[in-house]
Amino acid sequence: MFDIVGDVHGCFQELDALLTQLDYSPFNHQHPQNRQVVFVGDLIDRGPDPISTLRLVMSMVEHKQALCVMGNHDDKLYRYLKGNNIIPKHGLKDTIDLLKKEPQDFGAKVFEFLHNLPYQLLLDEGRLHVSHAGLPEKLHGINNSKSRSHSLYGDVDGTTDANGLPIRKDWAANYKGSRIVVHGHVPVKEVTIKNGVWDVDSGCAFGNKLTALRYPEMTSVSVPALKNYMPGHPFGDSP
Ligand code: MN
Repeated sequence: MFDIVGDVHGCFQELDALLTQLDYSPFNHQHPQNRQVVFVGDLIDRGPDPISTLRLVMSMVEHKQALCVMGNHDDKLYRYLKGNNIIPKHGLKDTIDLLKKEPQDFGAKVFEFLHNLPYQLLLDEGRLHVSHAGLPEKLHGINNSKSRSHSLYGDVDGTTDANGLPIRKDWAANYKGSRIVVHGHVPVKEVTIKNGVWDVDSGCAFGNKLTALRYPEMTSVSVPALKNYMPGHPFGDSP
């Protein structure tokens, strides 16, 4: 069925190792049991190789070996490429500098790929919901500004804590839906489960690990980060 991969953030070597461990041969576009990867978004920024990550994920999506939803970092790159006035920070400047070294048609392909990314996916006949930051049940299948914002950033209202980081409300604490909800966005040391809501972002860019949650088995497979790509930042300390 599905292997749901948490925020990759340019950690290409770890992604390659994880996919190999899960029996994918990404450039042959085959899996022996016809499983599919689902990326929860945030493919870029922070880690060392956002370009190879994009190239691989775009190829897997094109060959229907993977699905992917939009993360807040992907969305920001999309808006930058669209020509919006974006201040590149939180690693986006590095991604843009690397992208500029690529042939121009690659940039156009990245733009097209990001343009087509959904914000949320309902899979397995509606039993499984995937988005970047997770969605409460009333927003499942709804495409409006509220659902798009929640799927990118979670339940935030613009307030920040003493360190300037957005305060996220714990919407999963009230989740009573029957669907399994899987998301990334919030780095955690281990996969967490709350009321059927799973967080699979195990903070690879922060030196922890990259995780895939296998569905429907609900077991996880991880590879350790090769290094901490965010030295000086406490674990998860960045939007
Ligand atoms: Mn992220």
